[in-house]
Amino acid sequence: MVLMRCTCGNRVEVRGGGVAPCPRCGHQVGAPMHALYRQSEVASGKAIISFTLGVLSFFFPLVPAIPGVIIGILALRDIRRQPSAYTGRGLAIAGIVLSIFGNLLLLFWIASGALAGHDVLDWFRRGVPPWQ
Ligand SMILES: [Zn+2]
Repeated sequence: MVLMRCTCGNRVEVRGGGVAPCPRCGHQVGAPMHALYRQSEVASGKAIISFTLGVLSFFFPLVPAIPGVIIGILALRDIRRQPSAYTGRGLAIAGIVLSIFGNLLLLFWIASGALAGHDVLDWFRRGVPPWQ
């Protein structure tokens, strides 16, 4: 839906490329076709990538988490600059939070492993995550 201004000055919600009657004067208000595309709600690709990396950071920490945070911040910037073109703000925030949390969880595992007397560096040498 796009907010169009009627000739009477009233604002009318019109579907992009469609027509809707003005509730005040009854005038038919049309929305240009391009408004359909400008207003179409597409989740930011960066937000989706950030969220995916955030989820992955729980399984493969460190590698996806850093780009997960960066891409999430870029997604939030895109969404803030073009709020009519992109959605996915919640997805981007979730991506950033998950990316950070995935790393904190790894640090927690390393710290608790070290405290339990495991050879923490050996985990990295063997490439086996601490929880396997
Ligand atoms: Zn009107």
